[in-house]
Amino acid sequence: MSKLAILGGQPAVKNTSDDIFQRNITKEMEEAVLKVLYEWKMSSTDITKEFERAFADWHGMKYGLGCNTGTSAIHCAMFGIGIGVGDEIICQSTTYWASCLPAFSLGATVVFADVDPETLCINPDDIEHRITPRTKAIMVVHYAGYPADMDRILPIAKKHNIKIIEDVSHAHGALYKGKMVGTFGDVSAFSLMSGKSFAIGEAGIMLTNDRNTYERAILFGHYERASEIENPQLQKLAGLPWGGYKYRMHQMSSAIGLVQIKQFKVDMVEIDKAMNYFWDLLEGYPGIRAHRPPKDSGCTKGGWYASLGRYIKEELGGLSISRFCEALRAEGVLWAYPGCNKALHTHPLFQTIDVYGHGRPTRIAFSNRDVREEDKSLPVTESLQKKVFAVPWFKHFWPERIEEYANAFKKVIENYKDLLPDDKGDPEDLGGWFTSRR
Ligand SMILES: *Cc1c(COP(=O)(O)O)cnc(C)c1O
Repeated sequence: MSKLAILGGQPAVKNTSDDIFQRNITKEMEEAVLKVLYEWKMSSTDITKEFERAFADWHGMKYGLGCNTGTSAIHCAMFGIGIGVGDEIICQSTTYWASCLPAFSLGATVVFADVDPETLCINPDDIEHRITPRTKAIMVVHYAGYPADMDRILPIAKKHNIKIIEDVSHAHGALYKGKMVGTFGDVSAFSLMSGKSFAIGEAGIMLTNDRNTYERAILFGHYERASEIENPQLQKLAGLPWGGYKYRMHQMSSAIGLVQIKQFKVDMVEIDKAMNYFWDLLEGYPGIRAHRPPKDSGCTKGGWYASLGRYIKEELGGLSISRFCEALRAEGVLWAYPGCNKALHTHPLFQTIDVYGHGRPTRIAFSNRDVREEDKSLPVTESLQKKVFAVPWFKHFWPERIEEYANAFKKVIENYKDLLPDDKGDPEDLGGWFTSRR
């Protein structure tokens, strides 16, 4: 093919309009929001309860609890299953902080496990040796839409009598062996904020089949719903939020949610088709691999939030991922950046910071053992940032447009040798504490 754009050639992506990355905003959503406004129902809970019912039904779950963020839904889920002072949860270190950080304010702490290099989800082989009598739960993150290996994780939890929380913020609508993620654990939590694939504003939702978990979650941050609490012991003590938090969902969000629950089922199919088409075009090209489950596995990635590709530099003569992505961006692939969520255990908040004035790091403030990792105890996690990169997240199945992007990848790969002479290598610091892509 022709000369690389980074070396002065013509970019492969001719049409760089970002319409292919934009979501569908419908008249029905607009009207739903305005209705909330004109009825002045922003802080009521009637629409939210309808949305909870619809979202829970979609998953075949008994209870849904709408929250104002995914973070608060996770906080409620943790309190709901009884996480408290001195408890430990096991979580992957490569994730957004809210997967585990709310544990700190419950007096609990986090033990990090390594990820599987292909799925980027928690490695089932790295869990069991981290379990102690204090371990209360495994936090399972279906990372970047990839369903975690539930068949291997569930028996571990069962054997040790610990709970499973699912963080489904990246994987709305995804299937694990034909069953929806968010339905495997004792409780699950979803972010529904604008950047996620099922997006309704700043919002989140918790799902569970366990009445007690649901009622405790209400008790924690939804004082206005105390009348829903049936357990007489809890009912007597309700009225004020035990957590001291107010986690009610904004009804402009739940109103969008009621529309989105129909819309997303359609959009998700198109996104899945578009993303699979993109990766099918690149199948067999050296240096890159799709981050997607095998086709006949019954596993899917739902809305493909924060789509990633894996990079194997050895197959491209050692070309750095930074230079590879830079060349892609020059071709018009504006999304191509190396790295993903930075490893949480490398931040001082999980090592040294004393948030609440205990006189020692908060991570170990409530523990009688030091759970902070020794160097290199998470080898895959620690080397991940040079092995994954962001790829375009297509919202529409427009084959010709997608082909232009795939051709840009092919062009860079086929001409990788031209990039080697000026390759300055990778900076130490790749990835970020959060992703901020549409
Ligand atoms: C976005 C996200 C959250 C938190 O959700 P918010 O709605 O932003 O509070 C939790 N976990 C993961 C993995 C996320 O990506």
